[in-house]
Amino acid sequence: MKDPLRVVVWNEFVHERQNPRVAEIYPRGLHETIASALRPHRELTVETAVLSDPDQGLPPERLAATDVLLWWGHAAHDAVSDDLARRVQERVVEGMGFVALHSGHNSKPFKRLMGTSCMLCWREAGERERVWVVNPGHPIAAGIGDCIELEHSEMYGEPFGIPTPDEQVFISWFEGGEVFRGGCCWTRGSGRIFYFSPGHESYPIYHHPEIQRVILNAVLWARPQGRRAEVPRHVPAEKAREKLTVRGPQLHDAGGNLHG
Ligand code: ZN
Repeated sequence: MKDPLRVVVWNEFVHERQNPRVAEIYPRGLHETIASALRPHRELTVETAVLSDPDQGLPPERLAATDVLLWWGHAAHDAVSDDLARRVQERVVEGMGFVALHSGHNSKPFKRLMGTSCMLCWREAGERERVWVVNPGHPIAAGIGDCIELEHSEMYGEPFGIPTPDEQVFISWFEGGEVFRGGCCWTRGSGRIFYFSPGHESYPIYHHPEIQRVILNAVLWARPQGRRAEVPRHVPAEKAREKLTVRGPQLHDAGGNLHG
């Protein structure tokens, strides 16, 4: 049997501790609801981490041992250390999968990975959302029908300040008339990234079986894909695959240092 995928669901875990309405929906934190939905899948080992944990939940050894990281944050983006954001970015480039959820669009790791503002329009009116599948053959849409209906949702609208996605899986429509690219895929280095917009903390969206299915699909899709791309290698002329005559000066040694 293959080694299980090591999944960590990271949550800032602020609203659930401060707001009784949110605590009612997610009494053990929304990370536990998401993790509980993933745990029955036998290919996965699923743990959770929260901002108030030592090392903000992700000490270097733990991050190094994570295959797919899910990220939910909103009120405490600024409390996440720049060092952790940088380490997450580096792990993604090495091959770790990263699934940014809902207001995670504005998190430090996601913005570092995208390199753009990641801003959007929003409205909290408890309106209807239809999460339309625009790429039915994509593995992240497996098991989902034409769309997912959410009776109460927060509107996220365009323009969304992201780089053009490599693949678009979902586009949301809102009762107020807006649309939003709510399910997007990218790669950075060897790592796969998925952003999924539904998940406002005051609605029970992570209890919805189809939302849980999309998150499971996304975790499986984002799994590391083999060798990392960024491995520096010096290939001396005598080791070239074809016989090679050195024509120019050799100013760098094997470590990339400039000399004489
Ligand atoms: Zn929200």
